[in-house]
Amino acid sequence: MKDTIVLYSSFGRGHIFSVVELGKLIITHNPSFSIEILIPTPPNTTAIDTTTFGCDSSITFHHIPIPQPPSGTTLSPATLIFHLIRYGNHNLHQVLQSISKTSKIKAIVLDFLNHTANDVIINLGIPTFFYYTSGASPLCVLLYYKTIMQINKNDQCNYIEIPGFPRISKEELPSAPEELENNFCDISATMSDCEGIIINTFNACEGRAVKALQKGLWLCFPEESNPAPIFCIGPVTSVPGVEKDENGCLSWLDSQPSQSVVLLSFGSLGRFSKTQLKEIAIGLEKSEQRFLWVVRSESDEDTLEDLLPEGFLDRTKDKGMVVRNWAPQAKILSHDSVGGFVTHCGWNSVLEAVCEGVPMVTWPLYAEQTLNRVVLVQEMKVALALKESENGFVSATELGDRVKELMDSEIGKEIRERVMKMKVSSVEARSEGGSSYVDLNRLIQLWKEKDHLSLLSPNT
Ligand code: UDP
Repeated sequence: MKDTIVLYSSFGRGHIFSVVELGKLIITHNPSFSIEILIPTPPNTTAIDTTTFGCDSSITFHHIPIPQPPSGTTLSPATLIFHLIRYGNHNLHQVLQSISKTSKIKAIVLDFLNHTANDVIINLGIPTFFYYTSGASPLCVLLYYKTIMQINKNDQCNYIEIPGFPRISKEELPSAPEELENNFCDISATMSDCEGIIINTFNACEGRAVKALQKGLWLCFPEESNPAPIFCIGPVTSVPGVEKDENGCLSWLDSQPSQSVVLLSFGSLGRFSKTQLKEIAIGLEKSEQRFLWVVRSESDEDTLEDLLPEGFLDRTKDKGMVVRNWAPQAKILSHDSVGGFVTHCGWNSVLEAVCEGVPMVTWPLYAEQTLNRVVLVQEMKVALALKESENGFVSATELGDRVKELMDSEIGKEIRERVMKMKVSSVEARSEGGSSYVDLNRLIQLWKEKDHLSLLSPNT
């Protein structure tokens, strides 16, 4: 029987991509394992086409059908993903059972958002590891969440000290409804108790946070407890090259000067109102910089002409390219003509930029992205922050000024030099003897030595 590692992704392209790349990385370091990747598939959705991932035969995909929630259940959107994963637990059990007929499951790695699947795994006696698809710094916040809630209730101070994270004001913490906060506390408790936490980062990128996690500083009594071991194996990024260039972005970039173009792209979920899109367009024109802009609006029906100021496309045709909805981002960031990136601070996007030495302007939109901004701007100093108004609106002047500052100022130059150094460190981390290489080998060694008694048998 072949030794296998099961990876269970959460929903959404960002999570699935990251888990798939982790699978490829494990296989590269230890070809004797096989990898089984599980993808939750909610009702009435088309299963993602896994052939586009470019994986070889040592990686197998399984869809975990997520049943319809029981009738009468009212789920809040904020906590929906946790409930859906729980509803899929029966199907998860069946898939694991079928895998175990031909392979020995050495460990299961759960995307951190799938903590409600842990009950199934514990009952089967299989070691659980967690994969945190974002960076070490927001993980410091997540693991410390229960204490943060207590401080928020009892302490009048405006600032909050979180081990491993820069001092931040309470307003900078992503706000979450109480139900979601309870889920964060559950995730933290489940992760604290697991066999290991894998993080998509590298030591030189987030040194302070990595140290705090290694010491278990999120625990009340780290010296008396046994903090879960930490494995920083990143940067795990999607390999530029797999995706097609349907909109011709890359051939357009070929005709632009080196490091002259700023990319604007906002992840798989970032959408803007018509008013905000028009404001971005005005800001870009004001900045006088070259740009490649991936436009996603609230409705897919709108054409670019509906969304952008009259005459914008014509006026900017020599300087800019606008594409609708999706572009091969990793490949674009690796193009020599790209010299800046306005990003929503999704962690995959951040790492793709860091690995290519592209400086950023930060515009966080959802999830842990405001925390990523704090780290990018204050700690790593590889980005400029956009100032938003209270409702998140960004004015044309603000956008234009920051883009110009990034592409054409002394501060922008310093940021570029810093991110270039970070690019070199990211290569070193993954090269033989580098911090991520060492952590990955340590993890694989641990898996190889694991000889647990799984309660899965062909007859269970
Ligand atoms: N992405 C892309 N083209 C797009 C938008 C996004 O290829 O037009 C990719 C991007 O390169 C990254 C992923 O989708 O790998 C988005 O992940 P991230 O963590 O940045 O953001 P999320 O979508 O999870 O918010």
